[in-house]
Amino acid sequence: MKAAVYSAPKKVKLKEVAIPRINDEEILVRVKVALTCGTDRKLYLRGHPLFSPPFILGHEFAGEVVKAGKKVRRVKEGMRVVAANSAPCHSCFYCKRGQEELCENLLIRLSGAFAEYIAVPEPIVKDNLFEIPKDITYQEAAFLEPLACAVHGIEEAGIRLSDTVVINGAGPMGLLLLQLAKLQGAKVIITDLSKERISLAKRLGADKTINVTRIKDEIKTIEELTEGKGADVAIEAVGIPEVWEKTISMVRKGGKAILFGGCPSKTSIKIDTQLFHYNEITIKGVFHHTPNYVKKAFDLICRKTINTNSLVTKEYPLTKIKDVLEKIVNHQGLKFAIVP
Ligand SMILES: [Zn+2]
Ligand SMILES: [Zn+2]
Repeated sequence: MKAAVYSAPKKVKLKEVAIPRINDEEILVRVKVALTCGTDRKLYLRGHPLFSPPFILGHEFAGEVVKAGKKVRRVKEGMRVVAANSAPCHSCFYCKRGQEELCENLLIRLSGAFAEYIAVPEPIVKDNLFEIPKDITYQEAAFLEPLACAVHGIEEAGIRLSDTVVINGAGPMGLLLLQLAKLQGAKVIITDLSKERISLAKRLGADKTINVTRIKDEIKTIEELTEGKGADVAIEAVGIPEVWEKTISMVRKGGKAILFGGCPSKTSIKIDTQLFHYNEITIKGVFHHTPNYVKKAFDLICRKTINTNSLVTKEYPLTKIKDVLEKIVNHQGLKFAIVP
């Protein structure tokens, strides 16, 4: 089969490799659509401590089951399916406490969707794999993983009706968070530096958009828009330490900052102790997803509650993978759909 194989930073080649073998508890999926995401950008540029090269890129996908292991019960050949990229072990300290996103054995992380076939390991088949309903496209279903992360972020935000929520960053994650925050009854202010992203945010329901290249002081602007108080909830969705700091400074007394975007390793931020203490601000990091959030994301996709199609800039065949990776490195477009 054809696959986009990563060998070293910025070295990805379309290669002919063996179709993955499956055991009795796994399934083999013919990939119909795979989506690019921020993680692929990081992987392409720097590699990943969990994956030793060579490995195949891509983790957001949907496809058709071509082979199911003998012991697999609810999945049949020919079934249209979507799966998340990991599953928790259900037996470690964190899983037992209901914090499966922190599972010590989460290394069952799946990569390999930028290929014609992908093998789905048993824990994911059991926990985080779903049959796609007839009226949902493969591309819509492939949003399962990013949407599950966004659902996690919004559930932690604890938004109340009529709250003002600031989202810093109108990339794919920011735009999913925006739609979920609107569902919670919030007034959403979204910031970004790209004209295209800002106008898409407007179309997707943002109440107020701020192009940060056009204003002097973002924190002050948020203050002015909230009667001098600050936002009830502010969410960082870009993964830049400086924006983390700004996000924290945008929340009102007693408000909450959700730090959603993953920053490069070995970076840190400064927090004003006075502000943190006397304003009783809550600062919450949010990472990954749990089977509960994956299921919620799946339900939202099936009900067509979230507009995902407008987050896909363009579709490309797998043979164009190098061009697509260059595009995401240069921050062109939002997400790309790869069709093997
Ligand atoms: Zn992803
Ligand atoms: Zn665990």
